[in-house]
Amino acid sequence: EFSATGVQSCFHGRHISPQILADLDGKNWRLKDYESRGGYQALRKILGTDGQGGMTQDQVIAEVKAGGLRGRGGAGFPTGLKWSFMPRQFPGQKYLVCNSDEGEPGTCKDRDIMQFNPHSVIEGMAIAAFAMGISVGYNYIHGEIFATYLRFEEALEEARAAGMLGEKIMGSTFSFELHAAHGFGAYICGEETALLESLEGKKGQPRFKPPFPASFGLYGKPTTINNTETFAAVPWLIRNGGTAYLECGKPNNGGTKIYSVSGDVELPGNYEVPMGTPFSKLLELAGGVRKGRTLKAVIPGGSSSPVLPAAIMMDCTMDYDSIAKAGSMLGSGAVIVLDDSRCMVESLKRLSYFYMHESCGQCTPCREGTGWLWRVVERIHTGKGRSTDLDLLNSVADNIQGRTICALGDASAMPVRAMIKHFRHEFEAMISQNPAASGATSPATA
Ligand code: SF4
Repeated sequence: EFSATGVQSCFHGRHISPQILADLDGKNWRLKDYESRGGYQALRKILGTDGQGGMTQDQVIAEVKAGGLRGRGGAGFPTGLKWSFMPRQFPGQKYLVCNSDEGEPGTCKDRDIMQFNPHSVIEGMAIAAFAMGISVGYNYIHGEIFATYLRFEEALEEARAAGMLGEKIMGSTFSFELHAAHGFGAYICGEETALLESLEGKKGQPRFKPPFPASFGLYGKPTTINNTETFAAVPWLIRNGGTAYLECGKPNNGGTKIYSVSGDVELPGNYEVPMGTPFSKLLELAGGVRKGRTLKAVIPGGSSSPVLPAAIMMDCTMDYDSIAKAGSMLGSGAVIVLDDSRCMVESLKRLSYFYMHESCGQCTPCREGTGWLWRVVERIHTGKGRSTDLDLLNSVADNIQGRTICALGDASAMPVRAMIKHFRHEFEAMISQNPAASGATSPATA
């Protein structure tokens, strides 16, 4: 039995039963419970307060690299490599930020980590801060999970009172202050530079890059940003070593990953399984497809990842490389299961509406293009589609993808292309029901 995020039994490849939830909610998240599960041993290990001599900053970063830990927020960037970008000798203030602005449709893992095991995030952040020579950190928590924000604040109080945060942690020479902040629910604030803007008290809109946060981040200072699950995995990795962590998963995809399985399954929920677990096994853990139904398609990594038909998905393993090879992305690990009762035109309509609604409006291809995508899919769905609409959708997607400041533009375009690629017949069937379908359409009239 193993859980890299330290949530122990509740996430380890099985549904979280109401009883386990009640137990965790009632008592098991506290500092003393976390310590009874080995919590804060990794911090002691690196600081040398366990009497074993401690670790250097380079050793900690090397261990994280050896573990093959990749960012769990969506991009899958190697964590140790990101940490090595921080200019450690920078003379001024440097910042560490945890991105807990979990807003990707289908994703609910970070909320549960902070709710049921908040100290794993605090310890992971303290270890990261030590490795990069950072003295101040923030955890930016999604505004729609305010109870979780309050829980995290309570955990911070416990950690401060016990000397795990603040001046000279556990009697060492290392000091680290950590604060929680909450957003107000805007999806775009999960984009790291929009998050930084919001944290500074400004409108949450993405910044042009470069410069990247490693050189110009929070308040213009060097900043490293990682996802909640990434930080939560660090204590186990350091306690047990990078090699042990890597071996839990597969080469280039170390450790375990939490998947938020939702949609047409019998037991939706969060499941932590080793990287490289077959999708079929994950589906089985989630109780399989709803009774009497068959699997039609899967959105494997949150709404931004391209949909994959059942036949392709059943051959995949759940890791960054396998899902990428199949033509999609592991993303944040939100596995949205669609059964044979689902209309793909309607599914795409809902996705397109989301991106249109959440576009920050800063750049034209995204601000205008997401609206076009939704309007065209909506008219197909309401029986007013035209024979040129699929080409039009692909053309609009072409003119968004790769032409925007942040990845939201790409995220709105990729599902459109994938839906048309794999389920074109459903769109064509719906368009053919419109007697006036043959009318030509120009983008201007879209
Ligand atoms: Fe804003 Fe969209 Fe441009 Fe991102 S791509 S900066 S969300 S308008």
